[in-house]
Amino acid sequence: MPTRRDKPYIWVTWLTKLLVGENSCEWAAWFRAQHFSDSYDKVPNPFDLVGWQMQHTELLNQKRDELEAEGRKVFIENQNSFTLRGNTATLGGKPDLITVSGVQGLILDVKTGKPALSHSVQLMVYMYAIPRALGQHQGIRFDGKVVYTDSSQNVDIPHTAVDDTFIRNLSDLIRRISSETPARKVPSPQECSFCNITSADCPERVVEDVFEEGTTDDF
Ligand code: SF4
Repeated sequence: MPTRRDKPYIWVTWLTKLLVGENSCEWAAWFRAQHFSDSYDKVPNPFDLVGWQMQHTELLNQKRDELEAEGRKVFIENQNSFTLRGNTATLGGKPDLITVSGVQGLILDVKTGKPALSHSVQLMVYMYAIPRALGQHQGIRFDGKVVYTDSSQNVDIPHTAVDDTFIRNLSDLIRRISSETPARKVPSPQECSFCNITSADCPERVVEDVFEEGTTDDF
């Protein structure tokens, strides 16, 4: 039986696809936010996490080296881990790289997959949260950069992107996910097949709980 948290805890990446409409099932984020992660079973992930982590680390180190060669001080991963406590929930995240010069800062996140709008929104949530959550970065005005394997696809995000409309949309989503009332559930093959919540906790799940290798009758 999943154990309920006293106060919802939300990881930034649970929000980003919902914010840009790449995902619609807010219930998945609501369920994760409301329960301790180790108190419920997860659908096994067939994704090659070791290979992904190694590629990600290689690209991250390459970018860090470039920034340091420019004489910048760079903060890396665990140094950037934050928790931002609001009235209704706690928001947590960990940007890949942060560099600061005077009152100007840059937050970078490296992505080894295909470019997506949700990557830029992830940076915008970091740009909003970091100066509020980490004392040493208070008062810094942060721009953002999504770094892809093919640098011609990198995306620069100006600090002005984190405006009142963005903050209102982010806050509204966090409030819906933090509510006692469960958020809207939207089962679909596309989203359920990338969701690790099992049918024991989500009976409306429309795909099998176990990843099955493809089969064919052609040979
Ligand atoms: S399994 Fe499907 S319906 Fe259930 S929470 Fe996940 S995405 Fe939503």
